[in-house]
Amino acid sequence: MKSSEAVKLYFNRAADQLELTENMRALLLTPKREVQVQIAIEMDNGDLQTLLGYRVQHNNARGPMKGGLRFHPEVDLDEVRGLASLMTWKTAVVNIPYGGAKGGIAVDARSLSTRELERITRKFIDEIHDVIGPDTDIPAPDMGTNAEVMAWIMNQYNKYHGFGPGIVTGKPVEHYGIPGREEATGRGVGIIAIKTLGRLGRKPKETRVALQGFGNVGSHAAKFLHDAECRIVAISDLSGGYYREEGIQVLEAIRYANQHKRSLEGYPEAEKISNEELLELDVDLLVPAALGGVIHADNAERIKAPLIIEAANAPIRPDADALLNDRGVLVLPDILANAGGVTVSYFEWVQNRQYYQWGLDRVRQELDRVLTSAFEEVWGLSHEHDVSLRTAAFMLGIGRVGRATVLGGIT
Ligand code: NAD
Repeated sequence: MKSSEAVKLYFNRAADQLELTENMRALLLTPKREVQVQIAIEMDNGDLQTLLGYRVQHNNARGPMKGGLRFHPEVDLDEVRGLASLMTWKTAVVNIPYGGAKGGIAVDARSLSTRELERITRKFIDEIHDVIGPDTDIPAPDMGTNAEVMAWIMNQYNKYHGFGPGIVTGKPVEHYGIPGREEATGRGVGIIAIKTLGRLGRKPKETRVALQGFGNVGSHAAKFLHDAECRIVAISDLSGGYYREEGIQVLEAIRYANQHKRSLEGYPEAEKISNEELLELDVDLLVPAALGGVIHADNAERIKAPLIIEAANAPIRPDADALLNDRGVLVLPDILANAGGVTVSYFEWVQNRQYYQWGLDRVRQELDRVLTSAFEEVWGLSHEHDVSLRTAAFMLGIGRVGRATVLGGIT
């Protein structure tokens, strides 16, 4: 199933609960604008390369559109379209005054030199600077992009439109960024996990956790949960899984990965397992924090964890989601669980517009406040309507966007 179809399926399930008309569904599902541009650049070896870049601006009923830029070989218009609409519901679930957008370039960022990456980024901004802006559409990092890429975006955009750091978020802290942005998504996953355990009457100390993916999101989520006294029994990355029943020393594993090109390859303090085995471990909490689609109809029956927090975007395919739901597995959906990143991006934008530097304590305190409130609302709706947490999160998001659309006037 295409990613835009999966989002549409979840949308319609929530729209049924909200009794939305067909016309309203069409309005809310149709992106406002889709842009595809040619990016022609000269590679370091003198070859000409022509790439495709995309920006989908899904909805701005609640504020400027917001969403990451992904540089990955599998990026295409359909994927970007699905992710843009997810951003609309995500910003609405956490109630920050943004709409949703997403962008990307079909390229393998790892195969590029830093100079090639910079040329591609600047050329992309040359092509789309007219349709983005601090009051219209604010990009951010995603797969294959980082704080440095965001600094180039700000610099290139400012050449056309004058100085203004609020055009992009996820910038380096030394260059108009905000402290705590890097940890924000993983920290948010941890906050949501601890809230859920509390609601289930479970103690963190008695909770065994397996995490897939040990990059930005996975490592910060592991650190937060470890600090909260959960026992992290397994972690993994592209190199495979690492299992230790007594608990992984998370800080040691982070240090090891940092010393080995951000890879756990060869990590000596645990037993080596495969990524598939990690997903199927008999643990209390599973946190997929790597890729989309890792839990599917073929392995859903073998997932033993009674609680899954979706740290990655769409790690569970819709067919598996239905199977897990039938078995009573509790799933905290991505649009709530990984919304910490966009929330702190919002704080960065506020900070940039006020020309006032926030401190880390304030960022963490506000993040906790925003996510706690969203969690309570989703949990409440789920029980009130007897629906899954995913349907409840979509109901909350769609309801807010729908009301803003009607109140703002449609014609
Ligand atoms: P990252 O590139 O920093 O880390 C990805 C991790 O996944 C790495 O450890 C990598 O080795 C591992 N990985 C890759 N392929 C794997 C595989 N086949 N099996 C197991 N592990 C594999 O990326 P990230 O920023 O941590 O993002 C992870 C996920 O979270 C993505 O789905 C992303 O879209 C989503 N997300 C990220 C943010 C953010 O702020 N970074 C916000 C929202 C959602």
